[in-house]
Amino acid sequence: MTLTLDLTARRVEHARMFVDGGWADAASGGSFPTVDPSTGETIAQVPRADATDVDRAVAAARRVSVEWQFTDAVARAGLLRALAGLVAENADELARLEALDSGHYLAKAQELVAAIPLWLEYWAGLADKVGGRTIDVPGNKLSFTLREPLGVTAHIVPWNYPLLILVRSCAPALALGNTCVVKPAEDTSLSALKFAELVEQAGFPAGVFNVVTGFGAEAGAALAAHPDVAGITFTGSTETGKTVAKLAADHVAQVNLELGGKSPTIVFPDADLDDAVEAAVQGFCSHAGQVCVAGTRLFVHADVREAFLAKLVDRLRAAKIGDIFDGATQMGPLINEKQYRRVREYIEIGKSEGTLHYGGGRPAGTADGGYYVEPTVFTDVTNDARIAREEIFGPVAAVITWTDEDELIRACNDSPYGLFAVVFTKDITRALSTTRRLQVGGVMINDWFGELPMTPHGGHKQSGTGREEGLEAVHGYTQIKHVTVNLDDSLRAGTDWAGAPL
Ligand code: NDP
Repeated sequence: MTLTLDLTARRVEHARMFVDGGWADAASGGSFPTVDPSTGETIAQVPRADATDVDRAVAAARRVSVEWQFTDAVARAGLLRALAGLVAENADELARLEALDSGHYLAKAQELVAAIPLWLEYWAGLADKVGGRTIDVPGNKLSFTLREPLGVTAHIVPWNYPLLILVRSCAPALALGNTCVVKPAEDTSLSALKFAELVEQAGFPAGVFNVVTGFGAEAGAALAAHPDVAGITFTGSTETGKTVAKLAADHVAQVNLELGGKSPTIVFPDADLDDAVEAAVQGFCSHAGQVCVAGTRLFVHADVREAFLAKLVDRLRAAKIGDIFDGATQMGPLINEKQYRRVREYIEIGKSEGTLHYGGGRPAGTADGGYYVEPTVFTDVTNDARIAREEIFGPVAAVITWTDEDELIRACNDSPYGLFAVVFTKDITRALSTTRRLQVGGVMINDWFGELPMTPHGGHKQSGTGREEGLEAVHGYTQIKHVTVNLDDSLRAGTDWAGAPL
C-alpha cells in the first residue's frame, strides 16, 4: 500500500514503516499525529515504533548485511543510480510532502528534492573506487589494508532538512556496503516513508534499508543502544548528540555526530555590503533560521555598521513570509509549537540583552494556527549575551559591532560550537588569515552556504565529530582491516623470532 497525499485536504494516508522490505504498523499498534506547521492541523498518523520494532528492523538489516557487503560494488552503485532516477521522477510529490510536513516553502522544497539525486549519484560513482592502500613494511612481505563496511548503520535524522539529511548519510552507507535503519524526526517522517517506497521500487533487497518512525527517547534511543548497530550517524542538537554518544559507547559503536552551531558572519569594512547583507539574510532566515550553520552572530565592523543595518532592514522588509504554497514566499513557519514558544522566549531575552532593531513579532497576514515568527535583529549585543551564545534555531540574529581584529577572532571562537563561519572582505589575504584562525569545520568567503555532496561538512568542538559528504565521509561508514602476507618460502627461514619486535 503506498502513501498518498491529498493536497487539497492537506492530508496524508497510509503512512506505514518500512521494515524488512515490507510495510508495517508499530507492533504495539500505537501511532502519533504529524502536524502541518503552517496551520497547526494534523496531516497524518504515523506508527509509533518502540524497542520491539527497532529490534525487528535491526535484525533484518543484520540478516542481509554480509550479503550486501559482498554484492558487487558495481551492482550496489546501479541500485543507487536507479534510486536517483526514481527520486527525480517523483520529485514533485516528494517536495510537496516535505513542504507540508516540515514547513519549507514549496519552491525551496523543490530545490532541495531536485538536488537529492546528486548525493545518490556521487556515492554511486564512489562505490567501486574506495579501497585500502599498500604499506611498505620491512622484510619480504606484502602488507595492505582492506576498507570494509561497518555492518548495520543507524541514521537518526532531525526535522529541518529531513530528506536531504537522510540521503546524505544513507547514500555513502549503502554505497560502501552497509545496511541501514533510519529513524526520522517525529515531526517529519513522511518524506522518509515516501523515499522508502522508491528504495523498494529500485529493487534493493529486503532488509538493506529500513525506516522506523517514532519518538526520539523511545525508538531513537532503542536504535542508538542496539548492540547490533555498528555505526550511528546522528544529526541533531548537541544535547541529544551527547546522549546518543553515551548509548553508543555501551556497545562501542562508531559515531558520526553532526550537531548544532552558533556561526559567525564577519563583515570587514571593505566588504561588498549588498552581498554581505544577502548572505546574512540567508544565514539567519533560511528555513526560518532552523539551519545548523545559521549565521546568527553578525560581526559587523563599526565603520560599515549603519550602512549594513540600513540595507539589512530594507532586505528584510522585502522578504515575503507566509503560505508555503505561494510562489512568492521566501520564508515559512517554524516546525512546531514548542519551537515557536522557544524562539519567542529568546526574543524576550534579547530585549533585555540588546536593542530590538527589527522584527520581534508575528509576520502580518500569516495563518493564525501557523508557527510564524518575523525575522528579528538585535543590535548592541555583546558576545556573552545568551542570544549570542545559545542556539535559538529561529530567525533571530545578534549584531555585534567590532573594531579590533584580534578581539573579533577571540569573540568568534569564544563559543562552545565550531560548525561554520562566513567572511566578507575583498582582501583575499585578510580573508584567508581570518579563515585559518577560526575554530570551525567550514568557512565560506564572500558566499553563503551551499550544501554539496563533494565538500566535507561537520563541526569542531561541540558541533560534532566525523564528516558527512566528500571523500572524508568514507571514514564514517567503513573500517580498516590490515593484512600482511609473508612472501618467504618458509616462515623460519626469514624470521629471527628472538629479535622480532612485538
Ligand atoms: P534533536 O536533537 O531534538 O533530534 C534529532 C533526532 O534525534 C530526532 O530524530 C529525534 O527524535 C532524535 N532523538 C531525540 N532524543 C533522542 C534520544 N534520546 N536518543 C536517540 N535519538 C533521539 O534535534 P532537532 O530535531 O531538534 O534538530 C535541531 C538540531 O539539529 C539543531 O541543534 C541543529 O543545529 C542540529 N542540526 C545539525 C546539523 C549538522 O549537520 N550539523 C544539520 C541539521 C540540524 P524526535 O524528533 O522524535 O525527538
